[in-house]
Order: sequence, then structure tokens, then C-alpha cells
Amino acid sequence: MGYYYYGYGIDFAYYGIVILSLFLGLITQSYIKRKYERWSKVDASFDGTGADVARQMLNEGGASSVGITSVAGHLTDYYDPRDNNLHLSEENMRGGSVASVAVACHEAGHAVQRAKDYAPMRVRTALVPVVNFSQNVWMLVFLAGVFMNAVGLVRIAIALFAFSVIFQLVTLPVEINASRRAVQFLETHGQGIDRQGAKEVLTAAALTYVAAALVSVVQLLYLMGRTDRRD
Ligand SMILES: [Zn+2]
Repeated sequence: MGYYYYGYGIDFAYYGIVILSLFLGLITQSYIKRKYERWSKVDASFDGTGADVARQMLNEGGASSVGITSVAGHLTDYYDPRDNNLHLSEENMRGGSVASVAVACHEAGHAVQRAKDYAPMRVRTALVPVVNFSQNVWMLVFLAGVFMNAVGLVRIAIALFAFSVIFQLVTLPVEINASRRAVQFLETHGQGIDRQGAKEVLTAAALTYVAAALVSVVQLLYLMGRTDRRD
């Protein structure tokens, strides 16, 4: 035939994936929001703020050189290995609720992972530049492949997309392990209420990563299946 048509228009499987993605995103986002709100009304058993407790966890985890700064927004907290700082949202930095302490310690958990050279963290950090590139270009390459009717380009696009799927899969153990470190720290230094709340908030947070990874895997399998059938 020679004519390669990807047929990306009306496809129920594709719309199924879009709906699955929106549905899981909505469910997991509202779940974490609900858990966070509930536990942000409960005072942690610690005297200090989220930043204070995170500082203690950093010091004990061999990551005392890590800085703590604030970042604007709600649930925007992250650890950046490039500047070696925890970036905590105002409410978690200055607040002393179970939710604030849990999130702050989760981010401290990432810094401790780095200090202890935790392997999945190292892999994830190494993948960041590759993924930044592949996430930006895969769709362009894909569309170019479809319009130019070039199956080779479509294959390259799918390989690029696969990188972000691998990245999301590597992210899962990193996130779960950071939460485990946080819960462990709160368990040994705080009280039952801290452990209970942290477990609920951080499990909800982990579910958002699991849902995102699941959608990506399904999307990748779909793209691979579509391309095979066109051979
Ligand atoms: Zn995290």
C-alpha cells in the first residue's frame, strides 16, 4: 500500500484512556485534598513546625547540609537535589499540624535518600534531563510521523514517550520509600496520632503517583498496539 495512516481520529480505546486518566486524576486529587484537610486540623504532638521537624529528620538522617526554603502555593512542596533544598509551602513550613509535619518529613525523606545514595533516587535523578527532553518532543515527533506518514518517526516518538513511562515507574519506589522514612521517623519521635495521620496523608499522595503511572503504561501499550497493527 505504501500509505501509512495512523488513524488517530475517532477511536473508542483512545477516548477510554482519556476518560480513565481524567477520572483517576480527579479521584486521587480529591482524595489527597480530603485527607490533607482532615489532618491539617489536627495538631501534631511535636512542639515545632513542619520545618522544625523536617530539620530534625534531616540532621538525624545524615542530611544536615540540606536547606529549607518556602515556596508559594498549596501542596507544592518538593525537594530539589540541584540546590539541595527542601521547598516547603508556607502552611507546611510554618504550620504544626499532622499534615504539615507529614509532608515536610516526606520531603526530608527525599533528601535523606540522596544522602544515603538510595539507588532508585539516583536513577530517577539521572533520568530527569532525558525525560525533560523526551516529554517536550515526543508529541511533536509523533504528529510529524503521522502527518508525514513515516512509521519510523512514530516509533521514535513512542520510544521517547516510553522514557517518561519508565521515569514514572522509577518514581514510585522513590515516593513510597520517602513516605516510609517519614512515617518511621514520626513513629519513633512522635506519637500514635502523628503516625496515623502521616500514613493516611502520604498514602493518598502515593496514590496520585500510582494513578499517573498506570495511565501512562496503558497509554504506552495502546500506542505500541496501534503501531504494530499498521505494519
Ligand atoms: Zn515525594
